[in-house]
Amino acid sequence: MPSPIGHTLASWFLASIAERKIHPRDGAMFWAAAMIAGNLPDVDLLPAVVLGLEAVAPFHQGITHSIGFAAVTGFSFGFFFRKRGIPLSFGWFFFAALVYAHVLLDSLGDDTFPPIGVMLFWPFSSERFLSPVSVFPGVKKGSLTDLWDPHNLVEFGLEAGIFLPLIGALWLWKRARLKGVSRAKLGGPA
Ligand SMILES: [Zn+2]
Repeated sequence: MPSPIGHTLASWFLASIAERKIHPRDGAMFWAAAMIAGNLPDVDLLPAVVLGLEAVAPFHQGITHSIGFAAVTGFSFGFFFRKRGIPLSFGWFFFAALVYAHVLLDSLGDDTFPPIGVMLFWPFSSERFLSPVSVFPGVKKGSLTDLWDPHNLVEFGLEAGIFLPLIGALWLWKRARLKGVSRAKLGGPA
């Protein structure tokens, strides 16, 4: 599964698509909420802070990695932003998509520790899914020093190599579009 870096970059990309729906006044709050939503399924790892990773690992990637969790948390975020002028239907869909993108990305990772895979369609089905082709080799997370393990650095590099070009391309496209609109307003060649 991707690291929090990968999930955050994926959320950044998705938030870049939707940001024009947000009033600039709420920009910082929107971006923070998007980054939280994109990492939210891994909230099931939080007890590891107290209990240790080995105790928590068998319960990781349970119902927090499902379409049901995405729908419920997406609604909560959407409801919050509804008060800030974003239609509930859009906010719900957008934040549910952010949470579910995390789940889908995890299903593309390497998973060798039971339970294998994620329950993509829970509560409709408890079947677990894992891509036969592993795109993300995953990270070692036994201790803090593992952070700089070459295996992890390869994973971080891979995630940056996938998502940063997407973010960059989207930024360039938006910039070019903005310039085109400005020129059109000034009456120059588009
Ligand atoms: Zn996860």
